[in-house]
Amino acid sequence: MKILALSGDGIGPEVTREALRVLHAADKRFGLGLSYSEALIGGAAIDVHGVPLPESTLTAAREADAVLLGAVGGPRWDGIERSLRPERGLLAIRAALGLFANLRPAILYPQLAAASALKPEVVSGLDILIVRELTGGIYFGEPRGIRVRADGEREGFNTDVYSESEIRRIGRVAFEAARKRGKRLCSVDKANVLEVTVLWREVMDALAPSYPDVELSHMYVDNAAMQLVRAPRQFDVVVTGNLFGDILSDAAAMLTGSIGMLPSASLDEKGKGLYEPVHGSAPDIAGQGKANPLAAILSAAMLLRYSGGMGEAATAIEQAVGRVLDAGLRTGDIHTAGTRLADTSTMGEAVCAALT
Ligand code: NAD
Repeated sequence: MKILALSGDGIGPEVTREALRVLHAADKRFGLGLSYSEALIGGAAIDVHGVPLPESTLTAAREADAVLLGAVGGPRWDGIERSLRPERGLLAIRAALGLFANLRPAILYPQLAAASALKPEVVSGLDILIVRELTGGIYFGEPRGIRVRADGEREGFNTDVYSESEIRRIGRVAFEAARKRGKRLCSVDKANVLEVTVLWREVMDALAPSYPDVELSHMYVDNAAMQLVRAPRQFDVVVTGNLFGDILSDAAAMLTGSIGMLPSASLDEKGKGLYEPVHGSAPDIAGQGKANPLAAILSAAMLLRYSGGMGEAATAIEQAVGRVLDAGLRTGDIHTAGTRLADTSTMGEAVCAALT
């Protein structure tokens, strides 16, 4: 399996280095036959090529079986024109590779229950997977813009649009994922107000008979937001559109305590994917060895599972992370009294040791 590493900016290179080390260790133990290449994205690419997603990077991404990304962005590039900012590189690569399905697990490691903003009894054992549609909906819909009305007042407008086929393909990913987990799928919409989600609900219902082993339910997004913080363990897999998924996945993420623990996957129709931690480039701690590499390491585990079909190695990495936490090792973001403060590379090294 050919893996392209795009480490990006800020803490991106620091956490990606550890994730690659762990992949090497997994390869050594399981004989996975992984090969690697590297390319530039984000601010690092702007500095060299003048654009956040150079053609050479896109070609390398198309040739790879999976992409492991760090993070992009930072204050150094905040002043440049919007269409050339580092973050545009990320949006562009997702769109160019047709990565329409975003999978974000929110798992609370029992060792970190105290780090959650919610009471331990509400969140302990939490294991949710949010499946968000990533290339459609209101973020991409046309027409969009800011215009001047006949009366001289300006108005902003966007279009929330989903075709049946777009809904069907994200629905299939979600049903398949639910089938491999707790077999419950909750589709989140706003069908009481938005026609686009009336169609969303109809298409989800039409898919359900093909997955008789999965129990489908529907929930309005406002209720879903409430339920996520009231009783989050009721959820197994949640599927929703781009806008609602953006917001709900961040809320679910925070149930787990630290953004430094959260991996994500974005998949195309053939299972090729881009894997990245949920966090950004954290310029405030970049270059200081303070970054938590576990989100990047767990993203590498997702890469093996979803693009490589190497579930055993993926599970071994996740268990190794659990053992490192059991041993009391913590980076600053998850450090509590009685645990041992570790830097980025010590954490990565410990996961490798636990793995091998
Ligand atoms: P951020 O996620 O980079 O940081 C938010 C806070 O969390 C900071 O205090 C940071 O120190 C901390 N943090 C993040 N990751 C951590 C880790 N692995 N270990 C320990 N602490 C961690 O979000 P931000 O500050 O809003 O954005 C910073 C830059 O990153 C911006 O340029 C933004 O555009 C970019 N960004 C990129 C991505 C991405 O590449 N996918 C996502 C979000 C933000």
